[in-house]
Amino acid sequence: PPEQLGFDPTKKTLVILGSGWGSISLLKKLDTENYNVIVISPRNFFLFTPLLPSCTTGTIEHRSIMEPLRHIIRHKKRAVQYYEAEATKIDAERRVVKISDFSDIKGTVSETEVPFDYLVVGVGAENATFGIPGVREHACFLKEIQDAQQIRKKVMDCIETATFKDQTEEEKERLLHMVIVGGGPTGIEFAGELHDFFEEDLRKWVPDIADKFKVTLVEALPNVLPMFSKALIEYTEKTFKDENIQVRTKTMVKKVTDRSIEVEVTQADGNKVKETVPYGLLVWATGNAVRGVVRDLMGQLPAQKNSRRGLAVNDYLVVDGTEGIWSLGDCSATKYAPTAQVASQQGNFLARLFNSMARTQAIENELYQLDQMRQAATGEEEKARLTAEIEHKGRSLSKIKQLSPFEYSHQGSLAYIGADRAVADINWFGGVISSATGGELTYLFWRSAYVSMVFSLRNRILVLTDWLKTKAFGRDDLNRI
Ligand code: FAD
Ligand code: NAD
Repeated sequence: PPEQLGFDPTKKTLVILGSGWGSISLLKKLDTENYNVIVISPRNFFLFTPLLPSCTTGTIEHRSIMEPLRHIIRHKKRAVQYYEAEATKIDAERRVVKISDFSDIKGTVSETEVPFDYLVVGVGAENATFGIPGVREHACFLKEIQDAQQIRKKVMDCIETATFKDQTEEEKERLLHMVIVGGGPTGIEFAGELHDFFEEDLRKWVPDIADKFKVTLVEALPNVLPMFSKALIEYTEKTFKDENIQVRTKTMVKKVTDRSIEVEVTQADGNKVKETVPYGLLVWATGNAVRGVVRDLMGQLPAQKNSRRGLAVNDYLVVDGTEGIWSLGDCSATKYAPTAQVASQQGNFLARLFNSMARTQAIENELYQLDQMRQAATGEEEKARLTAEIEHKGRSLSKIKQLSPFEYSHQGSLAYIGADRAVADINWFGGVISSATGGELTYLFWRSAYVSMVFSLRNRILVLTDWLKTKAFGRDDLNRI
């Protein structure tokens, strides 16, 4: 498209969908000199999800974990075009992406098509609800920045409503009951943050209703945090007990209404009993589901027939059944868990792949020209010189072409569990030594690990300042303006 920033018709157009862990890691390492790069995402920032639970209570301000996309693309060698839009359809045959602007302010054009030579699908996943009635209408999720802001508002709203004049005791109890569904790391970390907020701040602000504040975590399986070792699962469950967070395992939510959830509890003898649990705030954290645009693409490709969790890809992250379409992160189905660690390593891998594809193309062009020159050459000496040069370039070409397939290197799992404690299963030296730790030292490690991971210097300083502010002055309840 001629209106695209710095469009060069001699270069391939690479379209990147999404601005999350996968796509941004790719973009950061990509040599944009070699392609016409277009990024399409409804979110004009990168979100550092590991610290999202801390935003629900104001321990960290939301801006501190958002990195503007424009800051990232501004520093690239060649201009990168960004469209704030959602990809609504990927047409694999016509090689175009249909995009729509769903933002509040729309121009006369809010739907169009973007053609691509190469496409990277990094649109992440959406929240799984398993079709359970009432979840979308009544529960809060914890995936995007607005989810954390909504939770923060609702926690305070529950508290203020519970202190409303003449509120009955039963209603106070309901309003102050915070229920979390899903004992994966999202649910666990949120429960820990909620506990801290209550113990460090709320208890002082509203001592009259403090004894009614209750947190319950509901998990369908027999234990929480299935990806952690047994010792750390036990440590987490014990810490939660000390923190007065009730963990209800073998309890599956079946229905949600505006004030209560209906659960089915599997008892020790295997019997199942139904129960109604009233709540004031309900946070739903039961993992990932495939996005509509990804499901549609899968439907176009017979090779994706048996894939359920997302786009099936080969060892080089090429979407099965396509040419020139790659996928990474939570929207792809691989043997790895859908984590930021995996998505970012896949992004780095694809950057290497695209950079070496461009070098390959450049060398192949040179080889073609050298060969033409050799054919036209008359002198034997000139021919021999060109042959030597062709052989030399051919050797470096085959070296570049030997890019090994994507391999994930697991650095470990880390989760905050409240009261200045964290659990960590860490792999040291590429998995040669692994250790499982829990406690306050782990918490310090958790903090320093995250601070050093938060991408830009700006974000590092903002996060550190937020932590210091919270320690010195506590959180505030001014988030409802
Ligand atoms: P995302 O980061 O979700 O990015 C998807 C991008 O695609 C977004 O920019 C989105 O706006 C965009 N998009 C969506 N739809 C479209 C569309 N139709 N067209 C174009 N763009 C679209 N993992 C860890 O390893 N460690 C952790 O500590 C950790 N903590 C977490 C805490 C929380 C609260 C959550 C929710 C997740 C956490 N994860 C963690 C998991 C991690 O965040 C995900 O695995 C990771 O974000 C996946 O990266 P991604 O690039 O595939 O998707
Ligand atoms: P998850 O898939 O890890 O856990 C969801 C849990 O919800 C499961 O244990 C499941 O049994 C339970 N569940 C499902 N339906 C239920 C129902 N009806 N009633 C009760 N329980 C039900 O989801 P998550 O915690 O959102 O994590 C998603 C991904 O993000 C994972 O890969 C995770 O590793 C990653 N993540 C990592 C971190 C970290 O490393 N600190 C933090 C957050 C997320």
